[in-house]
Amino acid sequence: MPETAAPANFQAELVACLGQPVAENPTGAMQEAAFHALGLHWRYLTIEVPPARLREAILGVRAFGMRGINLTIPHKVAVIEYLDEIAPDAAVIGAVNTVRRDGDRLIGENTDGKGFLRGVRVDAGVDPRGKRAIVLGAGGAARAIVTELVLAGVADLLVVNRSIVRGETMVAELAAKTKMAIRFQPWRGVYRVPADAEILVNATSIGLYPDVDAMPPVDLGAASPNLLVSDAVFNPPETRLLADARRRGLPVLDGLSMLVYQGVIGFQLWTGLNPPEDVMKQALGRALGVG
Ligand code: NDP
Repeated sequence: MPETAAPANFQAELVACLGQPVAENPTGAMQEAAFHALGLHWRYLTIEVPPARLREAILGVRAFGMRGINLTIPHKVAVIEYLDEIAPDAAVIGAVNTVRRDGDRLIGENTDGKGFLRGVRVDAGVDPRGKRAIVLGAGGAARAIVTELVLAGVADLLVVNRSIVRGETMVAELAAKTKMAIRFQPWRGVYRVPADAEILVNATSIGLYPDVDAMPPVDLGAASPNLLVSDAVFNPPETRLLADARRRGLPVLDGLSMLVYQGVIGFQLWTGLNPPEDVMKQALGRALGVG
């Protein structure tokens, strides 16, 4: 009997990140490392799409039968009108960073806040339920983090933001959608973190490369020794805020954790499999030159 080889399959399953600019987005490095580690014939493409071409790009996603996409700046809100369904938490957040395909339907999800929460639970070992949390910022990352903190059952949530209009608008919207009283305080001068705070999140872009010497104007002098200080900024992973917290002996959580876990959750949504998280973390570290 002649041996019969399995039929060759040169057709990869496709996922992609759409954004503008997008060239420096490192997500592809960690997703492709995970595909490779599990022997999956999948590819992750990093594609620049200008806002005026987003509708056509999503038609392309459908035509190519792509298994999913990530959206980054400036498409996270604009993409919603081209999708078939939005997951409940993504609808509260009002933005989509991940799309998965279910049959012919494209479903919008948001894994940013979920990735943050998973880092809080797994890497920092903190259960947010019943905790008092403070979020600095009111942009896209803050919206996702605030929403997931509320859904995770925090007892008290304070948003501190420089722009009063932006901060108040976000808090009013999210409070109405989640039915939780979220407090807001304008950020004026140095914000003194109160002694009863248990989780502090920098969800502003202060400290983001190349502005690595910038430090959010906060004073940790009165903080409880158990305050978890976390940063959404992942480049550099050791921000000035985290370095200050570490010097004071406070527990810290860096933005790489959030970035890896949002990717882990995306991988699970697309493939239905659990990716090797250490492989993804190492690949991301190498891609950012910190591994
Ligand atoms: P946005 O541009 O939507 O929001 C920026 C926020 O930062 C606003 O609240 C803004 O305040 C505040 N801010 C910026 N500069 C200053 C300043 N000098 N003083 C006070 N406040 C300031 O950004 P995103 O929410 O999309 O991203 C925020 C950070 O989160 C970025 O560093 C991004 O890289 C990171 N991120 C990390 C992820 C991860 O997986 N680790 C995922 C997503 C984002 P104001 O309203 O007053 O302008």
